[in-house]
Amino acid sequence: MSNDNMDVEAIFGENVFNDATMQERLPKKTYQKLKETIRSGRDLDSTTADVVAHEMKEWAIEKGATHYTHWFQPLTGVTAEKHDAFISAPMESGKVLMSFSGKELIKGEPDASSFPSGGLRATFEARGYTAWDCTSPAFVRKDAAGATLCIPTAFCSYTGEALDQKTPLLRSMEAIGAQALRLIRLFGNNTSTRVTPSVGIEQEYFLIDRKNFLARKDLVYTGRTLIGAMPPKGQEMDDHYFGAIRERVAAFMRDVNEELWKLGVSAKTQHNEVAPAQHELAPIYAEANVAVDHNQLIMETLKKIANRHGLQCLLHEKPFRGVNGSGKHNNWSLVTNDGINLLDPGKTPHDNIQFILVLCCILKAVDEHSELLRESAADFGNDQRLGGDEAPPAIISVFLGDQLQDVLTQLINTGTATHSLAGQKLDTGVSTLPDFMKDATDRNRTSPFAFTGNKFEFRSVGSEDNVGEANIVINTIVAEAFADVCDELEKAEDFELAVHDMIKRLAREHQRIVFNGNGYAPEWAEEAKKRGLPIVQDMVDAIPALTSDSSVALFERFGVFTRSELESREEIEYEIYAKKSNIEARTMRDVIRKQIIPAVIRYTTALADSINAVRAAVDGDVSTQSEMLLEVSDLLSDTRVALAALEDATNEANEKGSQKERAICFRDKVVPAMEALRKPVDRLEMLVDKEIWPMPSYGDMIFEV
Ligand code: ADP
Ligand code: MG
Repeated sequence: MSNDNMDVEAIFGENVFNDATMQERLPKKTYQKLKETIRSGRDLDSTTADVVAHEMKEWAIEKGATHYTHWFQPLTGVTAEKHDAFISAPMESGKVLMSFSGKELIKGEPDASSFPSGGLRATFEARGYTAWDCTSPAFVRKDAAGATLCIPTAFCSYTGEALDQKTPLLRSMEAIGAQALRLIRLFGNNTSTRVTPSVGIEQEYFLIDRKNFLARKDLVYTGRTLIGAMPPKGQEMDDHYFGAIRERVAAFMRDVNEELWKLGVSAKTQHNEVAPAQHELAPIYAEANVAVDHNQLIMETLKKIANRHGLQCLLHEKPFRGVNGSGKHNNWSLVTNDGINLLDPGKTPHDNIQFILVLCCILKAVDEHSELLRESAADFGNDQRLGGDEAPPAIISVFLGDQLQDVLTQLINTGTATHSLAGQKLDTGVSTLPDFMKDATDRNRTSPFAFTGNKFEFRSVGSEDNVGEANIVINTIVAEAFADVCDELEKAEDFELAVHDMIKRLAREHQRIVFNGNGYAPEWAEEAKKRGLPIVQDMVDAIPALTSDSSVALFERFGVFTRSELESREEIEYEIYAKKSNIEARTMRDVIRKQIIPAVIRYTTALADSINAVRAAVDGDVSTQSEMLLEVSDLLSDTRVALAALEDATNEANEKGSQKERAICFRDKVVPAMEALRKPVDRLEMLVDKEIWPMPSYGDMIFEV
C-alpha cells in the first residue's frame, strides 16, 4: 500500500510461474517437454513432472512460500483449496527438507466428501482427485496466512466424473478447437494449428463501508439486503461528498491492480458503474480457462483488498433493491494460434464468407440451445436481477446491429447480399457477399447476446457466478453447429455453392433468435412468444434444460458431460436453490424478530410516553402522535402476521422430499412470503425514528463510502 510510483512492468506476473520464469529456470529439455505437453494436451511424464515440481518449489520458496495447494473450482461457486506444507518428515538430525514431487504437482487427493456431487458419489466414497491444468500457470498468493504456491487444477471423482467447472471447460475447449479447425481448413487455412476461445470478463461489484456491512446481518449471511427502504432521491448527492468517495475507492483500486498484476492478471479498465457505490473491473482477454481462473482471482482479490481498506466488496447480483444490480459480461471470440479472430468481419472476401458462416453457426447454436444458455446464467442471486429493467431479459436473443442485420435480411429475402449499409458499397470481388466495416453498428445494452465488433458479449451472467459454466455452454453449442456444417460441407462437390446455400438456409431457419430492439420493452416478451422463443423467468425453471434430450445429446457427442454428470449438476442446482432460499428466509425471520420488532416496540413506547406526557403537561392536542402510533402499530401487527406466514412456508418447503420439490416450494411459497413480509417492514423504516432503527439504511450504505 505504498505511495511510491508503481513499476508495473517489473511487478507484472512476479508471483506467477509463467512462461518466462519457466524458460529461465527449467532445463531446456524439460521446458520443451512441458511446452509440448501444454500444446498437445497430453499427460505430463513423471520425470518431467519431477523436474518441474522441484524448480517450481525452489521458485516458490524464494517468494516466501511455505505451503502449496491445489486450487480448484468445485460446484459451490467459489474456489477451494487444501494446504500442505512443503516440509517432509524430519531426518535423524532433526532437520526437515522442503520437498515437492512431480506426483504432488500433478495429482492431489483432497477429501471430496464435503463438496457437492449431486449423487454422483456416495458420501463414503470420499475420494476425489485434483489434476494440474498445466495450461493455467501456478502462482504464489500472499495473504495473512503467508505465501502459498497455488496450482490451478481440475477436480474429478475416483471414477473420473467431473466435480468442478474446470474439467468440462477444458473438454469444451477441446471440442470447439477441433471443430473450428475443421471449418477453417474448408476455407483453405492449412497453417493455423489451434483454435481457442478467447474470453474477457467484465466484473461488476459494490463497495460499502465494512462497519455498515457488519451491522447488516442480512448482508453478512446472504450477501444482499432482505429489507430496506429506498433513500430519498438525491439527498446525499453533493460534489464534495463524491470527492471523498473517489479518494477512498481510488486507493482501493490501486491496491487491487497491484495485487492482480503481480498475479499476472492484466486488470485494465476500471470505472464507476451506473449505481452509486458500484464499480467495474475488466482484464484484457485471455484463453477461456485462464480467463475463468483469473476471474476467480479477481473476485477473491477484490474482497481481500476491500477488507484491508475497511471496505466490503459485495459481489451479489442484487445487494440493494431499487438500485442497479451487478453482472458479469462474458466477451467471447475464437482465435487461432497465429492470431486470426474468426469473429472479425475482416477485409478480404474470402474471410467474409467464412465470417458469415461462423456468424450463422452462432445463430443456429444460440437458437437451438437458448434454454441451455439461459440455464448457464441462472443463479440464485441472479434471479433478483435478470428480467428487471436493468439487466438482460429472461429471453435469450442475439443482437447483430444494423449492418449485419441488413446483410442477413438480404440473404433471407433474395438469397444474396449485394451491399452493406454505412453508405459505401465495398467491392468484395464476390458478387453475393459484401465486405463490412467494423463499428458501423450501434450498441444495444439490453441484449443478452450481442455482437460487439469482433466478439460476442454474453451479458446475462451474474456477478457472483463462476463464468466457467457459461463458457462451457457457448463453446459446446458452437462446436456442434460447426460440426453439423462441416459434416455437410466436407462432402460437397461445389464448395462455393454449398456454402452459399448453407448460409441462406441457416439465416432463414434461425432469424427468429435475432432481436435488435429494446429488450426491456414489454412488447418484446409478446413478440418473443409469437416467435416461439422460450421465456424462462427463474433458476428453478431454467434447471431442467441441463438434462433435456438435446442437451444430453449435445454434451455426450463432444465428450463434455456424460448424462450422469448432467443429472448430478441438475440435482446440485436444485439443492443450492433450496439451501440459499432457506438461509435467506431464516435470516429474514431472525433479523425481523430480534432486531426490527423490538426496535419498533421501543418506538411505539416512546410515542405512547410522549402522548401521555403532552396530555399530562398541557392537556394538549395529541392527535398527530396518536395517528402515528396507530399507523406504526398496524404495520407492526401486519409484520407479525407476515412473519408467521413465512415461518409456515419455510417449514412446508423443508418438509418436501426431493431437492427439486423443495426448490419449487421455496420459489412458489417462501419467496412470495418474504416479499409480503418486506412490505410492512420497509414502510416502518420510513416511519420509525432513525435513531431507533437498528441498522444502517440504504442511504447510509450506498452513499457513505
Ligand atoms: P466494451 O466495449 O464492452 O467496453 P472493451 O473493449 O472494454 O468492451 O472490452 C471488454 C472486454 O472484452 C475486455 O475484457 C476485453 O479484453 C475483452 N475483449 C476485447 N476483444 C475481445 C475478443 N476478441 N475476444 C474476447 N474478449 C475480448
Ligand atoms: Mg461490456
